[in-house]
Amino acid sequence: MTERPRAHVRERAGHRCEYCRLHEEDSPLAVLHVEHILPRAHGGTDDLANLALACIDCNLHKGPNLTGIDPQTNEVTELFHPRRHRWEDHFTWRGIYVVGKTSIGRTTIGVLDMNSEDQLALRSP
Ligand SMILES: [Zn+2]
Repeated sequence: MTERPRAHVRERAGHRCEYCRLHEEDSPLAVLHVEHILPRAHGGTDDLANLALACIDCNLHKGPNLTGIDPQTNEVTELFHPRRHRWEDHFTWRGIYVVGKTSIGRTTIGVLDMNSEDQLALRSP
């Protein structure tokens, strides 16, 4: 991947992780990663529609996962897709905690461990 699509993805995301909303300036490693929403292992391409900006925590936890188990229904559920889904439809904030509003939201929070100690520490004022 060249530098141009990466810059575009950063700009489009407003320099925030598209899962947990961590801002680039608040990231301990300073740089958020351009990730493949559909991982390359599953045939995902470098197309802009398949790229998202993600912090290291979200990126590592997501790995090659496409689905998870909704802790409320125990159903296999797809993960949040930053290009197809709107963040506000699936997540909300309760203080520094991200809370799932939908099955997709709850499942994604679980798989990506979006309320880990590390994440919470970064969100603390
Ligand atoms: Zn994140």
